[in-house]
Amino acid sequence: MKRLAVLGSTGSIGVNTLDIAGTFKNEFEVVALSAGTNIQLLREQIERFEPKVVSVMNEALAKALKREISPRKTEVFFGVEGLILIATIPEIDLVVSALVGAAGLIPTISAIKARKSIALANKESLVMAGKIIVEEARKNGITILPVDSEHSAIFQVLAGRPKDEVKRIILTASGGPFLNLPHEKMEEVTSKEALHHPTWNMGRKVSIDSASLMNKGLEVIEAHWLFGVATEQIVVHIHPQSVVHSMVEYVDGSIVAQMGITDMRIPICYALSYPKRLPLYLPPLDLFHMDGLTFLPPDMDRFPCLRLAYRSMVVGETMPAVLNAANEVAVNSFMEETIKFTDIPKVVEKVMEDHEIKPLTTLDDALRADQWARERTKKFIEEIRV
Ligand code: MG
Repeated sequence: MKRLAVLGSTGSIGVNTLDIAGTFKNEFEVVALSAGTNIQLLREQIERFEPKVVSVMNEALAKALKREISPRKTEVFFGVEGLILIATIPEIDLVVSALVGAAGLIPTISAIKARKSIALANKESLVMAGKIIVEEARKNGITILPVDSEHSAIFQVLAGRPKDEVKRIILTASGGPFLNLPHEKMEEVTSKEALHHPTWNMGRKVSIDSASLMNKGLEVIEAHWLFGVATEQIVVHIHPQSVVHSMVEYVDGSIVAQMGITDMRIPICYALSYPKRLPLYLPPLDLFHMDGLTFLPPDMDRFPCLRLAYRSMVVGETMPAVLNAANEVAVNSFMEETIKFTDIPKVVEKVMEDHEIKPLTTLDDALRADQWARERTKKFIEEIRV
């Protein structure tokens, strides 16, 4: 029996995680949950799983929730302290880190320091402070289990093989909803169109990032830290069918791929149950009725976010944290319709250009760069807002 804490239980990954936990009651016990503001869904999850502790965004929400649930069964905490508390309580074995954005960093590090296994969906924490997370995981003897479908694919393909056998990691990308949209039309796309992903059903932020290919850029950085492979050896192939979830090309020329339907429960379940596999009764991948398998190089002119992510890794140190923070602010502004879709890479590039690079040796270095980039991005958006 693995005892779980799910950080971000009301988001897309969190909901799917609890679906797995509810399906395999003999394998998993849900001990702790955290949510932001979706108290209604959290209350339903509390009724179903009876966790010992939960945490919500702030004190007012914690008070509101306490009035509605049985205090004898579930204790309620809030804020960053609440997140840290539930990521580190002694009876937990595995922490599912499924918060969105930079908010995932501190609880993830806390869980690693408390020697919890980590199922990591929060790619932004690796982008911000990959060096520190990997070092802490090594020191504490923790394996980070990837939840992202591409990284789960690579993890399954590598299966512990030494990295000097790896020639390239080939990350696949669906290309998002604007794969074939002409350059001149990109300016006018709406957040509703950007949220409509062709093959995967995901949360809002990752959907926008997928439409701009920033998500793939963040995943290149994530793959670098998870698998210790140089960024130059990680390439992106656009693969509109989303059947191949990623590949590893070995030094002997063999390319090994992992395939499957686009259902996040597969990578989530593997991260939860690793090293064993559990029977998920999902519809099979129908190989006879696939629309072919095509692979294309990414168009970095129409999708400059991908190039910016690579560039941030060439510079390294605090630059990826700046890329990530600027992107988070820009994506929010795009969803609020204060900037255009094509402004997202412009804003990120400008903030990266303005950033004075600093060495990344402590968590504070990453957090300071993140804070600086947020303020700089907001100021820049004020100047250009439509
Ligand atoms: Mg992914």
